[in-house]
Amino acid sequence: MSRYIIRLDDACQTMNHNNWDRIERLLDQYGICPIVGVIPDNKDPDFLWEYDFSFWEKVRTWQKKGWTIAMHGLHHKMFYHDPVGYYQKSHSIYTEYAGLKYSIQKKMMSEGITILRQNRVKPSGFFAPAHTYDLNTVRALKEFPEIQFISDGYALEAYKKDGMVFVPSICDGPFSFPFGVFTYVFHPSVMKEEDFKKLESFLFNNRNRIINVEKALSCIRDGQGLIGTILENSIFIVRWIRYCLFKNR
Ligand SMILES: [Zn+2]
Repeated sequence: MSRYIIRLDDACQTMNHNNWDRIERLLDQYGICPIVGVIPDNKDPDFLWEYDFSFWEKVRTWQKKGWTIAMHGLHHKMFYHDPVGYYQKSHSIYTEYAGLKYSIQKKMMSEGITILRQNRVKPSGFFAPAHTYDLNTVRALKEFPEIQFISDGYALEAYKKDGMVFVPSICDGPFSFPFGVFTYVFHPSVMKEEDFKKLESFLFNNRNRIINVEKALSCIRDGQGLIGTILENSIFIVRWIRYCLFKNR
């Protein structure tokens, strides 16, 4: 039977608070504990709603409720990087991490974790902006034992690779599948009315299949496996064809 994890991206002081409050009420209604990606020190100009001075208090409330806190980058400020050397085949050409030296990435991780710790927030996971990172990102994260998993990767269950646990995040969704563990990613700040309706309908229809990360981590396979590899390659090929067809339009 399939299982679903809800992930909320881009929590920061200047997020769209009305939308975040709305999604929190909705998840509370169904007793769902999502993964929430917190940006330690946001410098992304796309997130420019009103500054919330009580933001960290809010994150601590989520933490108390049992939400899983993941560090989501450091500044969420990305630069162009040639599409080579990424950890995963499918990726953006913009990244906060890929291509940077191990020592720099380790310093960025340390800075992010320090900011979270100073605000009494304990991250147990990580995911990079735009799914873009490299092997040095994974190596740097392993220096911080509190980071138990990366919310990313291609497989139908949690898996261990290069000494790191991955809780797969294959597509945004939400879709229903007959089997597998799927993480569905939402960006509450930019969600429209129809997105909320679609999510609410999905939660109602799948409320018994939605799990938290701890549950997903109760079964970790060794390596991505054949299905994971096929998924990663298939999605990469489909995206590449789509890119070639539409790049000049
Ligand atoms: Zn993000």
